[in-house]
Amino acid sequence: MELIYTPKQQAFRTEVRQWLAQHLPAEPLQSYDTREGFEQHRAWERQLFDARLSMVMWPTELGGRGCDLIEWLIFEEEYYAAGAPMRVNQNGQLLLGPTLMEFGTEAQKNRFLPAMASSEQMWAQAWSEPNAGSDMAAISSKAVRDGDDYVINGQKTWSTRAIFADWCFGLFRSDPQSSRHHGLSYLMVPLDAPGVTIRPIKALNGKEAFAEIFFDNVRVPQENCIGEEGQGWKVAMATAGFERGLLLRSPARFQKTARDLVQLYLANQASADRDPAIASRVAKVWSDAQAYALSAYYTVGRLSRGEKIGAESSINKIIWSELDLAMHQLAMEILGPQGELTQTQNSHWLEGFLFAQAGPIYAGANEIQRNIIAERMLGLPKS
Ligand SMILES: Cc1cc2nc3c(=O)[nH]c(=O)nc-3n(C[C@H](O)[C@H](O)[C@H](O)COP(=O)(O)OP(=O)(O)OC[C@H]3O[C@@H](n4cnc5c(N)ncnc54)[C@H](O)[C@@H]3O)c2cc1C
Repeated sequence: MELIYTPKQQAFRTEVRQWLAQHLPAEPLQSYDTREGFEQHRAWERQLFDARLSMVMWPTELGGRGCDLIEWLIFEEEYYAAGAPMRVNQNGQLLLGPTLMEFGTEAQKNRFLPAMASSEQMWAQAWSEPNAGSDMAAISSKAVRDGDDYVINGQKTWSTRAIFADWCFGLFRSDPQSSRHHGLSYLMVPLDAPGVTIRPIKALNGKEAFAEIFFDNVRVPQENCIGEEGQGWKVAMATAGFERGLLLRSPARFQKTARDLVQLYLANQASADRDPAIASRVAKVWSDAQAYALSAYYTVGRLSRGEKIGAESSINKIIWSELDLAMHQLAMEILGPQGELTQTQNSHWLEGFLFAQAGPIYAGANEIQRNIIAERMLGLPKS
């Protein structure tokens, strides 16, 4: 692959840059982990959608723009460089969306994807349970067939922004005799259905967008099942691949943080240089962010040639989560005690630092990713 942009790609970059310059909100949006901020982000998503910049890689008939992976990288580079708002519907757009493209029926795609692209429907991921986090095959929430419906009972936990979302997707045990990864079905459930209770969980930053979801005889029609009944594990593994792979955390996000970190260091150089290691650590994380971007281009080159990346998405997940942690840790050290102040021009570093703690946990804990790399890529014996 040659890293030279075509005139069409350059024109797309210019269009995105200009649109963002004209439409970025004058004031930063409030945190999407608050009700008001969530709705502000939904309105922003609608603006992106109207400009056909919400899901640039999706087909036009499903609310996208039909771009290729390189154009997607270009979009992401411009989006983050402009300091545009964080994307609020990632569970839907980046995890369930690609899953539906691959496994959904035509009716499901037409019903859900355009509403997801416009964020008219916001989605939560309902996989984790109190005894099924890393060990997801231990899922015990049940979906029992009753005529054309499933009747769902059980509990999910750690569901990001489920407190505000409209729908959730999750795995449920549809064969009561089954165990582990057999007999699970992948269902989409409206969160306003009778029998659904959502209870907030407070996160480190004090906000209550996280939630546990309780299902008490909740009925959903059979047509809400993605893939075949009992084959949900296979579909879920595809979703997990999207979550760990490139789409959820594009390198542009980390390149922007790395650039901001360099500025933070320069603005505080006198105090930061009291620890001589800080300057070289800033240089290292900046280089790591560039390296992640180059590896993303390499991966995109391979995907464009029709290759699959499979278990390698676990490497990706470890890189972005540890890089995010290292950059925010460094920002806190540069800022010193000031870094702990909220509501200052630097307080986004504290928010980012708190959220970065979760990177090695969500999307599958990094220990599990290391197991996957050891067993499936390096062929080491199972632990
Ligand atoms: C910010 C955040 C957002 C999240 N959002 C969602 C969401 O939207 N939807 C959702 O369904 N879930 C979500 N989760 C849950 C997340 O997917 C789980 O926390 C994660 O899968 C780990 O599961 P657990 O918490 O049950 O930890 P456990 O599985 O109990 O693991 C605890 C520790 O033991 C280690 N461990 C466990 N088994 C092994 C093993 N075999 N080998 C080596 N080490 C092991 C783990 O790596 C971890 O360090 C979110 C979590 C966070 C922190």
